[in-house]
Amino acid sequence: PKRIALLTSGGDAPGMNAAIRAVVLAAHHFHIEVLGFFHGYNGLLENDPTLLDLSAVNDIIRLGGTILKSARCPQFQTETGLKQAANTLVKQHCDALIVIGGDGSFAGLLALKQHWDGQMIGIPGTIDNDIDGSDATIGFSTAVNTAINAIDKIRDTANAFERIFIVELMGRHSGHITFNVGVACAAEQVLSFENFSADNREQKLKQLAQEIASVQQTRHNSYILVIAENVWPGGATALARELKETFAIDSTACVLGHIQRGGSPDAKDRVIATKMGVAAVQALINGENEVMIAEQNSRMCSVALKQAIQHQKKINPNLVAAHENILAVTAQNQC
Ligand code: ADP
Repeated sequence: PKRIALLTSGGDAPGMNAAIRAVVLAAHHFHIEVLGFFHGYNGLLENDPTLLDLSAVNDIIRLGGTILKSARCPQFQTETGLKQAANTLVKQHCDALIVIGGDGSFAGLLALKQHWDGQMIGIPGTIDNDIDGSDATIGFSTAVNTAINAIDKIRDTANAFERIFIVELMGRHSGHITFNVGVACAAEQVLSFENFSADNREQKLKQLAQEIASVQQTRHNSYILVIAENVWPGGATALARELKETFAIDSTACVLGHIQRGGSPDAKDRVIATKMGVAAVQALINGENEVMIAEQNSRMCSVALKQAIQHQKKINPNLVAAHENILAVTAQNQC
């Protein structure tokens, strides 16, 4: 390619800037121009891009957020919007498009394919880690670390008052953040899509109440339950209210929220974003198309975009098993 269009789309994630930088530097090396479009797919509709030269990406590797901004773009989901976006790419003489985003953004790329015949590559940037075919996504590691730091602080105050906390974590419809954070914070219980369905809500509520009561009787300590967003109808606040109303259990709900999306990317995210950005440019040069750059067992590879958005990615079974083993011991012993 001679000119690459680049944008960040959907939920922002720490490390997106590191990926932008890597794309621009790798492209520069091969004498390819990079045009940055702002606000996700809106940028293709607005047709007001900026040329990303080396100075534009100077010192951005450590910045959270995305210098290209991100947004949802409902108009891009219409035929008119897609045609308009394709027109922009033609007018700007772009022969390739790299999108850093999540599964929704990749679905957008596949839709655009009907109207534009340039090369397209996805880079997985989402804190949720819910993309098939890549062991990690850009932003996941930082989000997990941010949540761990926050819960460690909650643990101090919970210990001091022997309080019960219900902490709600992000992840849309997957429990990667919740399970990893739960294990890393030694949470007394984890509630996620993988181990709970709203059908057995009453039963779960009773079980939780019994567990909390037994912990309170046998030891004087805090109790932290981490739950994935969207797993309990009404979230952490509703669960706390139900425990109070049905079982007279006092607990404090805490929704960590957008704090998990921000912050300077950690080492892992900076490194994976850099590797993915460079690999994306390399993939374009190799003539690849409609693929997502991925890392599997520490090796960079390409995965068909169609496959990346299947929502089949499971939580590592070793992690779930470790969590269950630990809970079995901690539930019966003072530790
Ligand atoms: P993420 O990429 O983080 O999963 P979204 O699901 O919000 O975020 O998707 C980002 C954007 O991708 C949407 O606002 C829309 O512009 C575009 N998009 C998502 N799904 C489609 C689709 N089926 N067809 C066209 N565009 C889509």
